[in-house]
Amino acid sequence: MPRIPDERPLNPKPEIVDALRRILPAASVLSTPAELGPYECDGLTAFAQRPLAVALPETIAQVQSVLKLCSDMAVPVVARGAGTGLSGGALPLADGVLLSLAKFNRLIDIDPDNRTARVEPGVRNLAISEAAAPHGLYYAPDPSSQIACTIGGNVAENSGGVHCLKYGLTVHNIVKLKLVTVDGELFEVGSEALDSPGLDLLALMTGSEGMLAVIVEVTVKLLPQPERAQALLAAFDSVETAGAAVAQIIAAGIVPAGLEMMDNPAIRAAEDFVHAGYPVDAAAILICELDGFNAEVSTEVMRVRELLLAAGASDVRTARDDAERMIFWKGRKAAFPAVGRISPDYYCMDGTIPRKELPTVLSRVAELSSQYGLRVANVFHAGDGNLHPLVLYDANIPGELERAEELGGDILTLCVEVGGTVTGEHGVGVEKLNQMCVQFNSEELTQMHAVKAAFDPHGLLNPGKAVPTLHRCAEFGAMHVHHGELKFPELPRF
Ligand SMILES: Cc1cc2nc3c(=O)[nH]c(=O)nc-3n(C[C@H](O)[C@H](O)[C@H](O)COP(=O)(O)OP(=O)(O)OC[C@H]3O[C@@H](n4cnc5c(N)ncnc54)[C@H](O)[C@@H]3O)c2cc1C
Repeated sequence: MPRIPDERPLNPKPEIVDALRRILPAASVLSTPAELGPYECDGLTAFAQRPLAVALPETIAQVQSVLKLCSDMAVPVVARGAGTGLSGGALPLADGVLLSLAKFNRLIDIDPDNRTARVEPGVRNLAISEAAAPHGLYYAPDPSSQIACTIGGNVAENSGGVHCLKYGLTVHNIVKLKLVTVDGELFEVGSEALDSPGLDLLALMTGSEGMLAVIVEVTVKLLPQPERAQALLAAFDSVETAGAAVAQIIAAGIVPAGLEMMDNPAIRAAEDFVHAGYPVDAAAILICELDGFNAEVSTEVMRVRELLLAAGASDVRTARDDAERMIFWKGRKAAFPAVGRISPDYYCMDGTIPRKELPTVLSRVAELSSQYGLRVANVFHAGDGNLHPLVLYDANIPGELERAEELGGDILTLCVEVGGTVTGEHGVGVEKLNQMCVQFNSEELTQMHAVKAAFDPHGLLNPGKAVPTLHRCAEFGAMHVHHGELKFPELPRF
């Protein structure tokens, strides 16, 4: 397994561990190799690094003390939720403390009148909807990892999911955050009012990948459960036709609750795994969910069925009941682990493109797959234009990981070329740093470093993630050099 080289001088481990043990209970500080092993990577398992120590605080006061201590001793800190991230955001540093929020797992309060819930950051995404269900409410953003991932991780990555097409990303579904600064100060952003004065720091914190502050409480919006949800499953003879159908549904003024696509390798893998009754000979399927009031859903189901057939679907099935609707989704939700069964390793990409570019980009991805000699399975949030090509490879074959990374890089560059972005919902972490150099110019990256420095002047919070240094971009060859000069800001090295 590749290890991330860390060139910084290592911090004196015993002193830091002793200092942590003075402020936390003994069981909340892990430091032996066996204890550190489970924390050495997140969902991007191609990269691994054991931290110097793991701190597992239980109270906000303990988080404040850990951050103050690390600040005073100049020790870097990486926050971690459930470690399901797919871009290496929670990858530890050899000389740093991994700050796990796993013990922050209490649902503090559900307020059905205001339709909000106040929760600790280590609460699992799905647990919020389960707790809200007796009130007829739920939390809309639903990453496929929702059974395991935490709301703190969702906020830090601005996570999406099947239902984000209609109901928005994490940033649209939270109202307030409590955070702790790098030097241990507690502060709040956002409010329960519709709008709040000043700069929108709530939006700034959302998607900041643990680089600006540590989230210790989240107030989320809850929505009323829809009266009815209905799903359709459409089969297509070509991936491009399925891609074009997506744009046609949205162009017709319909906003489905979810509109997802799987290509043939993903269909076969999911079918073998969960037996959802998918048409295994189809080149692609679309799963479209409509929700709302009964009459409204009936009308939209008929309309979408017509649109799918007119767009070239060879077969359209409407779920007979809620049980069949859940079966349609079961295959989609299990698609990543299902693909894990057909290849020793896979590399999950995450880029976003304008919907109308889906046919072009999907056929170009197929060409790149043949060019690199690596299979690619596509399963993604088609309605959002959020692609997840899964590049299949075998890490035991020398050079395959590097080829998979290069192919993934080409796919992300393609996303930028057609007017899209290098991430839709999985964040940048360590994985997409080079592609950030393609997406942004030196002025834009300089502004991002300035924001980081305003919150974290010594670069101790999750250093080396999310925003590349200008040196790195120059080395990668994607930074524009004007008049032979690259402008480097006078900022600390992150
Ligand atoms: C099978 C599978 C399916 C997935 N499907 C989706 C999907 O549909 N949509 C989607 O968006 N993502 C998806 N993901 C990715 C992942 O689940 C999300 O990014 C999720 O939000 C990560 O949450 P986590 O608790 O695991 O965070 P972690 O992986 O532990 O951390 C993620 C980032 O957040 C930071 N962080 C965590 N907690 C805090 C905190 N309290 N304060 C400050 N920073 C913090 C970390 O430092 C890191 O940078 C999937 C992952 C898997 C394995």
